[in-house]
Amino acid sequence: MKVLKIGLFLIALWIAQPSQLLGQEYLTATPGTGEGIWSLLRRSGVKPTPSSVAKFKTLNANNLIQNDELKKGVEYLIPSSSKRYPIFGPAYEEVTLVSGQLEGHVYYIVGGHGGPDPGTLGRYRGKQIVEDEIAYDTALRLARELLADGATVHIIVRDPNDGIRDSEHLPADKDEVYFGGKKIVLNQANRLRTRARIINELYDSHRATAKSQQVIALHVDSYGYRVEPQVDVHFIVASQSGRELGETIRSTVKAQYAIHQPNRGYHGDIKSRDLMILRETKPTAILIELGNIRHSGDQHRLIKPQNRQTLAEWIKEGLVARATMLSA
Ligand SMILES: [Zn+2]
Repeated sequence: MKVLKIGLFLIALWIAQPSQLLGQEYLTATPGTGEGIWSLLRRSGVKPTPSSVAKFKTLNANNLIQNDELKKGVEYLIPSSSKRYPIFGPAYEEVTLVSGQLEGHVYYIVGGHGGPDPGTLGRYRGKQIVEDEIAYDTALRLARELLADGATVHIIVRDPNDGIRDSEHLPADKDEVYFGGKKIVLNQANRLRTRARIINELYDSHRATAKSQQVIALHVDSYGYRVEPQVDVHFIVASQSGRELGETIRSTVKAQYAIHQPNRGYHGDIKSRDLMILRETKPTAILIELGNIRHSGDQHRLIKPQNRQTLAEWIKEGLVARATMLSA
């Protein structure tokens, strides 16, 4: 498959009132020899329908030759297809498809703990911070990034009224529920078993068509009441395929640190542990520990919303790299 060339074009349209300036983003794609509109749309992650084809023709009227043939080597604007996912909250619910590179790949995104269990606790600037809220916000950001690249995503732990939050302090609440609306119970074994059952049922429903299926669980560590050690983003796996996934994400994160903080170094490792969420789920599973909730250096990574976003983007890049390997 040819690499889709993506550019973001800002098309300004004056509509109705002169004061109302609407900006819309478009992908672009360049057709291969003999490629038609339907194929170009499909390759760009947009479903070819009479309406999307008509929209394409309007956008690209100047570059169509007779019988709607496409000119070789010309960049065409692709009508964006976007969908609403209220789980991300009003500011983030609209997700625009920017590529189709994860089409057919299925992800189960699990923010650790939730409901009556806040996970580990820490303090930042005099306020309590809790693992499940940090993990959940990062999980939503990761899910949104994956959707934008055309993936199928199931958010397993859900909080209908939180959404993605651009604030440092994420107050603890207890109203998270499972995918499907089932309550999260306090008993840990029971909770993890329910989590695995939900994932496994979905796994079976996707089995015939999915290119890959992976569980990504996000957590934040603590080490008793000590503020040490500082820990880098690291990975826990319980299978060979989990380890391979961990290696790909790990090298992506390492490469990103080398670019953005060249003198920092990165020491995240991959550990094997026989955890239920890894062992009892049918898809390839990995648990990602994002940092030590009590270490001030790690708190910087966990508390700043733009850092949670960056973490989500880096993990997504790792998943894209893995998907490319699995599709080859
Ligand atoms: Zn945890």
